[in-house]
Amino acid sequence: MHAYQPPLEDFNFILHHFLEIEKEDIKGYNDLLPEFTRTIFEEAGKLASEVISPSNKDGDEQGCRLENGVVRTPNSFKLAFEKLREGGWLSLDIEEEFGGQNLPLILSTVTNEMFTSANMSLTMYSGLSRGAYSAILLHGSEDQKQLYLPKLATCEWTGTMNLTEPHCGTDLGLIRTKATPMGDNSYQLSGQKIFISSGDHDLSKNIIHLVLAKTPDAPNGVKGISLFVVPKFLVNDDGSLGERNKLSVGKLEKKMGIKGNATCVMNYDGAKGYLVGEENKGLKAMFTMMNEARLGVGMQGLAQAEIAYQAALAYAKDRRQGKAINGKVDPDHNADPIIVHPDVRRNLMEQKSFIEGARGFIAWAAVLLDKAKREGDKSAEGIASLLIPVIKGYVTDKGFEYTINAQQVFGGHGYIEEWGMSQYARDCRIAMIYEGTNGIQALDLVGRKLSMDGGKYMREYLNLVQVFIKEEHSEDLKKDFITPLKKSIEHLQAALLFFMQNGLKNPLSAVSGATDFLHLVGLVSLGFIWAKKAQSAKERLKDISANKNFLESKILTGSYFMHRQLPETKLRLDRILTGEKQVMSLAADQF
Ligand SMILES: Cc1cc2nc3c(=O)[nH]c(=O)nc-3n(C[C@H](O)[C@H](O)[C@H](O)COP(=O)(O)OP(=O)(O)OC[C@H]3O[C@@H](n4cnc5c(N)ncnc54)[C@H](O)[C@@H]3O)c2cc1C
Repeated sequence: MHAYQPPLEDFNFILHHFLEIEKEDIKGYNDLLPEFTRTIFEEAGKLASEVISPSNKDGDEQGCRLENGVVRTPNSFKLAFEKLREGGWLSLDIEEEFGGQNLPLILSTVTNEMFTSANMSLTMYSGLSRGAYSAILLHGSEDQKQLYLPKLATCEWTGTMNLTEPHCGTDLGLIRTKATPMGDNSYQLSGQKIFISSGDHDLSKNIIHLVLAKTPDAPNGVKGISLFVVPKFLVNDDGSLGERNKLSVGKLEKKMGIKGNATCVMNYDGAKGYLVGEENKGLKAMFTMMNEARLGVGMQGLAQAEIAYQAALAYAKDRRQGKAINGKVDPDHNADPIIVHPDVRRNLMEQKSFIEGARGFIAWAAVLLDKAKREGDKSAEGIASLLIPVIKGYVTDKGFEYTINAQQVFGGHGYIEEWGMSQYARDCRIAMIYEGTNGIQALDLVGRKLSMDGGKYMREYLNLVQVFIKEEHSEDLKKDFITPLKKSIEHLQAALLFFMQNGLKNPLSAVSGATDFLHLVGLVSLGFIWAKKAQSAKERLKDISANKNFLESKILTGSYFMHRQLPETKLRLDRILTGEKQVMSLAADQF
């Protein structure tokens, strides 16, 4: 399996040249100088490649085991998780009062990309804990915060999110888990949850489950859902562990990928739980940290595409087959490395131009979320909320596609487990499904986010791109970047016009094009990011001490995206304009 190499120079370029984070007027950003971020990223990268990455194959081969009601994780996970915990890596952007370092999200977004590339299953144990931490931070009582947050912050205790039940995943209004008030501030929870990530394991002393359930007189549907904290071991007032709660693992799911992460059926048999926030406001409470959670899942798509690309690139430089079409390149061998062949290069360029663009997209969104949280900037929050379903949907759809492309570079060897290529694809696949399927992300974008605050944030997003297009640009930047970007934004505007003219009178016509629209926005966003990155790279090239090779490769990679990927906006628009006719005409029995 390929040994992960952190793309440190790309992180530096994105943060300090494309985004120029140190110039942002956001609390905590002034300290983010290149020397500081480089030191942090080098340390994290070392941990990712030397300690975490070696545990990845182990996770896939051994998987988790259910022994006497307790889940055992793969052997090498304990040490890797301990190192993450010890180094304070799991609490970088957590509030100081609960034991974190209060660093901006942009930093932990980068370190998480490295850890996730190195081992996605392992990082899910801390990722879910982060979700539980945020829900209690934002909605829990003062006592709950003091009791749970310091330990969740460091992952001494880990967390889970329990939404899904056997008969419902997307439509949570249907949930049946019951929470009966016991008259002493506690509730008794009964019901079954399925597919619960990190539901049980041996990496922490306690597991804090956040569970959606309905109280006896709750209204029907999503308006009757409440959120409860249900610890595996009850917690005494002084924070020590008390008796075992009445909950158990019914089954450990066998699944396609992320085998090192325990996906559990959880049975709650009169388990003791406590209400978080207000009764019947549970879904809202669970979803307040949706932006960060979905950003994290989008990043899983990027992180798996990155490690798969690294492996494919190394293989393409090493594997020799055939001769270069315009004459043999290497006189010392009777065949050339396959990287000389245009089709292999096309494949690698597809991956590289997507990955580096998506990295810029996710980093930009993390800065917007920092601006929203640290400065209370409503506009940044609005634009981030608009783009988050795109990051989740587009980046995981494409991320998965590119893990498959990377596998293709290996020919038959990519299909054989020994090389590890199938694991990246299998692990990545789930990111398109959980945290709201990608189809639901598209509906969220078209049905909710576009019209949020009267369409204000889509207008602001369009304005950002258009203002940039109108700036003074050099002739070669115009030709390679600005002209294709302009075309793509016209396609986006045409799609918006179609939705405006048809969406209200015939919602089916808009919804039928939702996934195409999500990809259209994803493509335009990466086009915008590549154009800005190319502009920064050209600027940097004026400095003779800059890394010319690296910067030129950015411009060429960006140019590939603009000419070979971005034109897909036209196809997406054409599909959207057909409305619902071809999608909906067939009766169910005609399929
Ligand atoms: C490995 C793994 C880990 C998971 N981890 C967790 C976890 O930690 N916690 C948790 O609570 N859940 C978890 N899940 C559950 C996951 O979030 C759900 O599987 C997912 O939300 C989809 O729900 P479902 O499987 O019930 O599919 P359904 O809701 O039955 O959907 C089936 C299909 O129909 C589509 N669909 C449904 N409704 C609509 C609609 N209105 N419009 C258009 N399309 C629609 C969906 O997009 C999907 O393609 C996990 C799942 C897996 C496999």
